Amino acid sequence: MDEPLVARMRQFGETIFAEMSRLAAETGSINLGQGFPDTDGPRSLLQGAARRIEQGVNQYPPGPGRVELRGAVAADRARRYGLEYDPDTEVYITVGATAGIAASVLGLVEPGDEVVLFEPMYDSYAGVIALAGGVRRPVALRPDPDQGGRFRFDADELRAAIGPRTRMIIVNSPHNPTGTVFTPDELDVIAELCREHDLIALTDEVYEHLTFDDAAHVPLATRAGMRDRTVAVSSAGKTFSVTAWKTGWVMGPEPLVRAARTVNQFLTFTANGALQLAIADAIRDETEWVAAQRDALQRKRDRLAAGLREAGFGVMRPQGTYFVMTDIRPLGYSDGIELARALPGRAGVAAVPAQVLYDNVAEGRHLVRFAFCKRDEVLDDAVIRLTRYANG
Ligand SMILES: *Cc1c(COP(=O)(O)O)cnc(C)c1O
Repeated sequence: MDEPLVARMRQFGETIFAEMSRLAAETGSINLGQGFPDTDGPRSLLQGAARRIEQGVNQYPPGPGRVELRGAVAADRARRYGLEYDPDTEVYITVGATAGIAASVLGLVEPGDEVVLFEPMYDSYAGVIALAGGVRRPVALRPDPDQGGRFRFDADELRAAIGPRTRMIIVNSPHNPTGTVFTPDELDVIAELCREHDLIALTDEVYEHLTFDDAAHVPLATRAGMRDRTVAVSSAGKTFSVTAWKTGWVMGPEPLVRAARTVNQFLTFTANGALQLAIADAIRDETEWVAAQRDALQRKRDRLAAGLREAGFGVMRPQGTYFVMTDIRPLGYSDGIELARALPGRAGVAAVPAQVLYDNVAEGRHLVRFAFCKRDEVLDDAVIRLTRYANG
């Protein structure tokens, strides 16, 4: 039989995250590849979900999501950022941020439309843009030696990527995999271009709570003229260490949210009900847990970054997320895929080569991403293994 997969998806194989997790399992490696914590979220959240299931909250919730969660999301967004959304028409619950992003792109991008995004890019963006028949226009984030290796974009390159067919810009901040938290000035550059070219912004804010030091998350929708052209997506998975729960939300002006909602009726239709109720409570009641988790992650960042530096990696200090990016050239390697494929078997550690998150592969060939959202003893063990490998 000829290749049965539709032509527009043939550029995609098994994702690198699946491949690395499989390699990690086969070799008994410590998996610092895929970003999921190895400790649980707040007790009240877990018990709240279990209680709802016991109580019989087990049938289809309303398509847009439980009103309790939509209300909690809207109140939280207003309290923390001063952004007001009508929970009935401007907040929509999805099966994780992934489905929110997919429904938004599929509902707003016509075949042939161009989508500007920053690379390295979270892998689902490329997939859904291709599904929509859109065209990716990547703009590189590069480490700035004057900012301690913080990744940032060049405003002229961003301007040059926007053309008459540009429909949307995707902005992920805090940014996976670089850990960059976009500054208000950087957001204002993006906002000005969105206004000038009448673009829709899709923001992926799943790490909004997980920022370190003095970096603070600022939603693009707070910038001048942006509330009414921004679809913002966030999720419970990273905030509450429940990545398996796949519960996210889309927030924006009614016409943009309606576009996502129209599509999502035919993707997943609705999301889990019991978990939505438990998450609604946690958004209100577990702010201290989230703050403590943020502090713990900052210490884990420092712990793994110091260990990787000690082992000989070049380390770019992230301002948020679960991840630290490293430069493997100081170790004498140049190709991240080669090293990442070898590490599980030789060192007993799995990581993700960043080049798979670039269209311009050369930009990221020498970069490898490690996750630090793991117990301290796991991070320490990984550092010992990597140091032994680097010195052997
Ligand atoms: C984890 C992650 C997602 C997916 O979130 P879910 O709620 O699990 O679907 C989306 N974007 C980025 C940048 C992520 O790291």
